[in-house]
Amino acid sequence: MAEVNWQVGASAIAIAWLLLFLGDFLSTFCYHVPEHVFGRLHLQTHHSSKKTFRHYAVLSPKREVLLDGILGALPYLLMAAILWHFSPGGVLLGLVFGQFHVWWRHTSILGWQTPQAIDWVCRICWITTPEQHWQHHQKTNLAFGDIFACFDLPARNWLRWLRWLRLQVRSVSFAEKSG
Ligand SMILES: [Zn+2]
Ligand SMILES: [Zn+2]
Repeated sequence: MAEVNWQVGASAIAIAWLLLFLGDFLSTFCYHVPEHVFGRLHLQTHHSSKKTFRHYAVLSPKREVLLDGILGALPYLLMAAILWHFSPGGVLLGLVFGQFHVWWRHTSILGWQTPQAIDWVCRICWITTPEQHWQHHQKTNLAFGDIFACFDLPARNWLRWLRWLRLQVRSVSFAEKSG
């Protein structure tokens, strides 16, 4: 009996991790980075300076803030729907941790400093700390990966490639107009 409980717990944790990892992957590469290159909503809401904790942590009722939050969260909800069949408990665990992380990663503005031991655990597990996420708020080309810091490097390469693509599209349309 104890072994069955252990297995249920381990599979719930694995599903929670999968939900967060794939959700963050899709959110970073399909919404966050493209939005930095082609959009305005995220840059205007999430990167506008001197906002409050409530604003950054999507606790503000403002329409644009909520829309940016919902679009960023859609991949997690998609993964939740796919993984529900395997472990409803794991899905709920993943969603609760994901929501906790949204609030936690914005606590730098409240003066929070991550204790060394937690910082150490986060680095081993590739989990983005509030300090790392705050770098992204200040320098928009850095520190991608809302939950997992390992997405930062590939996301920056994706950002550079999308910017190059945008330049090509613009130069083609400019040549068409002037030709
Ligand atoms: Zn943020
Ligand atoms: Zn951003």
